[in-house]
Amino acid sequence: MSKPRKSLLIGVDIDGICADLHTPWLADYNEKWHDTLTLDDLTVWGMHQIVKPECGQHIYDFLNDATLYEHIEPHAGAVTAVAELQRAGHDVVAITWSYAEDSLPGKIRWIQRHLNLGRSNIITGERKELLSLDVLIDDAPHNLQRYRSRWPLALVLGIAWPYNTVAQSYTDLLAEDYRNTESAWTQLVACINRRAAPRLGCNRHLDCAQKRPDDVCCHVPNCEDCFGK
Ligand SMILES: [Mg+2]
Repeated sequence: MSKPRKSLLIGVDIDGICADLHTPWLADYNEKWHDTLTLDDLTVWGMHQIVKPECGQHIYDFLNDATLYEHIEPHAGAVTAVAELQRAGHDVVAITWSYAEDSLPGKIRWIQRHLNLGRSNIITGERKELLSLDVLIDDAPHNLQRYRSRWPLALVLGIAWPYNTVAQSYTDLLAEDYRNTESAWTQLVACINRRAAPRLGCNRHLDCAQKRPDDVCCHVPNCEDCFGK
C-alpha cells in the first residue's frame, strides 16, 4: 500500500498573492495626482517612496476605506489554486493584516467570499513568523525574511514583484511573476505538491528537507514522519 501524501498547513497571504490590490490602488493614485505609475514602478515596499512628494503618505488614504474590498478582484489563478490545495487535503489558512483597520472586516468578508475559507481559517496579525506552518506564501520581503529566519525547514514561497526581488535569497521559490499570476500560482502549487509527495524522508529534519523526493531519508531515530504513522 502506497504511503499517503503528507497534509500540509499552508499559510496564504492576501494582498499581492490572492487579491489584486495594487491595480486599483495605482489607478486611483494616477487619477488623483495626475501621474502615470505602473506596476513595474513598484520597486520598493513603501509606496510613499515612489509617488509624487506632494502625495507622500496620502498614498495610504486609499486603504482607509471600509468598502475597499468590495472593489478588489482576485489575482488570476489564486482562487482555483487555493481550491485545489484544499481538495488535496491541505489545511489552508489566510494570514493577513491591514494597514488601516477600518478595511479589515471587509477584507475578511472578501476572503470568505472568494477563497471559501471559514472564519476559523482566517488569521489577522502582522507577525506571521509566530505561526508554525509547513508552507508560507507571501509577497512582502520582510515577512519572507522573518519567516525563513525563524523556520528554516518551512517551505517559504512568494510571487515575484519588483519590490521583492531581494527575497530571492530567502525563499524556496519566488514564482514568476506579478504579470502572470496564473502561471505563478501553477508553479507554487507544483512546488507544494513536491513537498507533500510521499517519500522516505520527512520535512522535519534538515537532512531530509534538503533531499529530493526520491532520495532516501536521513533515518533520524524515531522520526514519526519517516517510521511512524
Ligand atoms: Mg501581501
